[in-house]
Amino acid sequence: MSAHAVWDSCLQFFEENLPAQQFNSWIKPLDFKLRGEQIVLTAPNSFSLKLVQDRFLPEITKRTESLLSFTPTFELKIEKKKTATPLLAQQPSLTAALPSPIVKIQKDSAKLNPILSFDNFVTGKANQLAHAAAIQVAESPGTIYNPLFIYGGVGLGKTHLLQAIGNHIKTENPQAKVCYVHATNYVSDWVKAVQTKRFDEFKQLYNSLDLLLIDDIQFIADKAGTQQEFFYTLNTLTEAHKQIVISCDTFPKEITGMEPRLTSRFSWGLTVAVDPPNVEMRVAILLQKSELSGVTLDETVAFFIAKHIRSNIRELEGALRKVIAFSRFHKRPISVDLAKESLKDLLASQKKQVSIENIQKTVADFYRLKVIDLLSKKRTRAIARPRQMAMCLARELTQFSLPEIGAAFGGRDHSTVLYACKTIEDLKNSDTVLNSEFSSLNQILRN
Ligand code: ADP
Ligand code: MG
Repeated sequence: MSAHAVWDSCLQFFEENLPAQQFNSWIKPLDFKLRGEQIVLTAPNSFSLKLVQDRFLPEITKRTESLLSFTPTFELKIEKKKTATPLLAQQPSLTAALPSPIVKIQKDSAKLNPILSFDNFVTGKANQLAHAAAIQVAESPGTIYNPLFIYGGVGLGKTHLLQAIGNHIKTENPQAKVCYVHATNYVSDWVKAVQTKRFDEFKQLYNSLDLLLIDDIQFIADKAGTQQEFFYTLNTLTEAHKQIVISCDTFPKEITGMEPRLTSRFSWGLTVAVDPPNVEMRVAILLQKSELSGVTLDETVAFFIAKHIRSNIRELEGALRKVIAFSRFHKRPISVDLAKESLKDLLASQKKQVSIENIQKTVADFYRLKVIDLLSKKRTRAIARPRQMAMCLARELTQFSLPEIGAAFGGRDHSTVLYACKTIEDLKNSDTVLNSEFSSLNQILRN
């Protein structure tokens, strides 16, 4: 079989078995070459390369082996960097060409915080896709995912990612016109522009950007005028292949008070979630943050904090700051006991542990089912999926073991629970609706 036919068959397999978004993002851009008995796969950047290696290479190996008459070796490499980011490079004189802008807008919007970079962004399962997509966008703005729509609960790193994209692009190309704006400032700037009849300036300012980072877009809900303006900006910029990155607290279709044409436009590029971090990731974040503050944190202490502070990364940072301050103030080394003492109030408020009963009730209500259905032997999809969801949440949010969770779900086996968790984890990557339902339930139960 020719190399071409082998790769075609792989492509066909992935196209049929992966969600279109993943196929187009990770598999389609790969270049496949057969050199003797070696297969050379070239990815557009280091992140797709890593992702392909971790997630798809086993399947690619399996498929190609079965089609070729020998066992190929693999080389994965990154495409040689293009000399400049073409879209931005075409516009080096934009800044100079602009007429005097509305000072207020400039002041509010242009600021990037250099501390929020990719370098200090910890990745884990919860934010892997969002992080990879952000890197791709930062490396080739305006070309792949436009707009990039990042959604998730508070304190999970959305602003950090937006800022990191801006900082990366500014470093690569200092001429690039980059604007970071919080949606509330966008709204008030627009209102001011209308009041002072300076909307032409407003339009010109936004429409001439190379990169627009708009944070917490849910805040333009119920603001018809601003939405209309934003719709035009979105169109103008994407048509000119200028990058837009949007963050939001929910999935596009779930934003209330937003024009359907806008929400549908949001989904044209790529929509990715940031989920609450699991305990390993929380530990990694604590270790990284303490190191950045010049403090050595013992892993047991990090684990203690991570186990108890589960809601989001912002709270995790707050807790760590408290522990460090307490240790400095009392001139005592950081230990589990010290952490316990310094977080006393926080821990007391978190005492109310999530119970399995609470999870079952919440999930049943969410899907308009009865708890008794979740515990029953019924296996229709409408019941089985929520049941798996509830088991997976119980695994994540409680300290109970697999057999204990199984027992609480109508006397099921531990392997059933394990299978439920795996199924939900897999589906979260491919089914955006399920993923956002999971995030909502997760957040509801944690609060
Ligand atoms: P959001 O915009 O989603 O509410 P932020 O981006 O403001 O959340 O993140 C809250 C805090 O947590 C910030 O200080 C941010 O730097 C930090 N943070 C969030 N995600 C990460 C991460 N993956 N690695 C390191 N720090 C993070
Ligand atoms: Mg934010």
